[in-house]
Amino acid sequence: MITKPKGCIDITGDDSLLWEYVNDVVNTMMRTYNYEYIRTPIFEASELFHRSVGETSDIVKKETYDFKDKADRSLTLRPEGTAGVIRSFIENKCYHLPDIKKYYYNGTMYRYERPQNGRLREFTQFGVEVLGSNDPIIDAEVISLQYKILESLHIENLQVNINSLGDEESRQNYKEALVKYLEPHLDLLCDDCKERFKTNPLRILDCKTDATNEILKKAPKTIDYLNEESRKRFETVLKYLDILEIDYEVNPKIVRGLDYYDHTVFEIVSLDHNDTQQSVLGGGGRYNKLIKELDGPDSYGIGFACGLDRIIAILKTMDLYKDIKRQIEVYVMYVSEEEKLHAIDIVQNLRLNGVIVETDTLNKGLKGQFKEADRLQAKLLIILNNEDLKKGLVNVKDNATKEEEKVDISEIVEYIIGNL
Ligand code: AMP
Repeated sequence: MITKPKGCIDITGDDSLLWEYVNDVVNTMMRTYNYEYIRTPIFEASELFHRSVGETSDIVKKETYDFKDKADRSLTLRPEGTAGVIRSFIENKCYHLPDIKKYYYNGTMYRYERPQNGRLREFTQFGVEVLGSNDPIIDAEVISLQYKILESLHIENLQVNINSLGDEESRQNYKEALVKYLEPHLDLLCDDCKERFKTNPLRILDCKTDATNEILKKAPKTIDYLNEESRKRFETVLKYLDILEIDYEVNPKIVRGLDYYDHTVFEIVSLDHNDTQQSVLGGGGRYNKLIKELDGPDSYGIGFACGLDRIIAILKTMDLYKDIKRQIEVYVMYVSEEEKLHAIDIVQNLRLNGVIVETDTLNKGLKGQFKEADRLQAKLLIILNNEDLKKGLVNVKDNATKEEEKVDISEIVEYIIGNL
């Protein structure tokens, strides 16, 4: 038997119903906030991720799925969504439009990680990228959009952990202070962090291995190294979040794993599920240098990515979603070929009017069809028989009360819609 690759999941049955529901909520919210759906390829030139996510990041160093195609091109399955969106924005010269671009995506990402609870090799993220504006109102909008999507799924006790890395100058000042602080304690850090110290010391702050290390707990904080302009900018973002009534905590430990962030960085957690690293539902930040680094114009950007697999895992523990089951509204029953011709017509008419309908396609007898209607939890049954059909009538039975009524076949759609 062939099995699915390690770290991947099949989404089927009642789970897939939950996925459909969450996707509907996400899509509706994105449209309300005026975000445009963007779909970019699942694989891109490897160089794109090396230049955006960064050579020294864990993702690029250890976790990408790289392969050569038949023409010897180096390609990589996307480990995250931002790089592809920016590539598309630059390649299609969307920056010539005078407006800001507000994109959203929803798709699978690939990282060769050690599979565990909440950590897969193929997983799904939805996210946004807003390109072209540096106004703090956008930082607040992006954070609030992510928060409100999770809130509208009824996930409780949400909190935004927010921090600022500041502009280039602030970041540089901070990096120097951090290096000076860490240098005497290097032997107490994990091997990866010793390496990060040379390549990208900021990364040490969100190392999973050293998370509980006292040395890191006492490390200098980025917000203490912000220059005046960056500090003011951060305060404005927080002020806007207050107006939006978003619950946040300034958390100096948030630096985010990727090379490209500056200014605002954030993560969102549910405090009810706050015991592990896996409780981070999503995060993001501003990346005002990335577009230029990828050969685009000197423009601004900010985005977030949210893990759908983790969100679904939380929803499945909630009472609210326990009863979510695949159900139909109407089951149409028949036996003879003559009755079947009417069934085909009625089923189609109801479906075109938005009613969820099923009928027999396995030549079952009436008994078997009653059973199937129960299994599918149909609310109403339409039972066809030749005698009534000759008089232009069909029987409709309420599957809960078992009450039955004869309805004129020409009025069946209106009757069903009125009685669901
Ligand atoms: P990141 O792109 O690493 O900032 O991740 C953003 C969000 O995507 C995380 O908060 C998770 O919810 C989700 N995520 C990241 N990596 C994985 C993974 N390997 N498996 C499942 N979800 C993930």
